[in-house]
Amino acid sequence: MSKSAKVKKKANNTTPSKDFKQGFYEPNADWIDISITIKNHMVHWPDDPPVLIERILDMKSGSNCNLSVASMSLHTGTHVDAPCHFLKSGVGIDQIPITAIIGLARVIEIQNQRKINLKELHLHNIGSGERILFKTRNSERCWKTGTFVKDFVYLSTEAAQFLASKKVQTVGIDYLSIGGYKKNETEVHRLLLEAGIWIIEGLNLAHVEPGIYELICLPLKIEQGDGAPARAILRAIQKT
Ligand SMILES: [Zn+2]
Repeated sequence: MSKSAKVKKKANNTTPSKDFKQGFYEPNADWIDISITIKNHMVHWPDDPPVLIERILDMKSGSNCNLSVASMSLHTGTHVDAPCHFLKSGVGIDQIPITAIIGLARVIEIQNQRKINLKELHLHNIGSGERILFKTRNSERCWKTGTFVKDFVYLSTEAAQFLASKKVQTVGIDYLSIGGYKKNETEVHRLLLEAGIWIIEGLNLAHVEPGIYELICLPLKIEQGDGAPARAILRAIQKT
């Protein structure tokens, strides 16, 4: 290959994507971290064991490296639920389609202080294939305390049926369950998972305005895991 051909090949490799050229993505927009930090004794679902992270090798004590072990539920902090969490024949988190957790997502702000109901969802013109992240008062309220908040804002059963009928791709919520504590937790999970909708829980959207974003949310690839902690980030989309 001649020198000029090499240069040309390199230039082709760095050609911006079609979306980028159309100004669809904002190249300088900052990524917003919408994940909860995993730490010792952090808040968790009441039935789950405590989160324990222990440093078993410590350089301060003469070890040649630092090394820690962790013990926690797979539904700790920001995490993705797998279908097998509530469906006997559902697949595990290792089978998640990448398109469910990377791509455009819409942050919808919910005004209702108790639950996400059908009436409010109807205001947002939700369509097939969407990735929807619900920003509720949970984001500002629930993460400030290390104690589990029982009365967090959750998805009503009717709203879950609606999202299932709309065939959205992914639904996210800003506390530890999409269904209400000791309310409709099981039925809401089943409705969504049976409809093939992936569920992201434990988001913090306090510092995110409603709108369209690019989402990346990658749960750990745990074989047949019923869920897995994830790092979730958003990037604003340039309006053209
Ligand atoms: Zn869940």
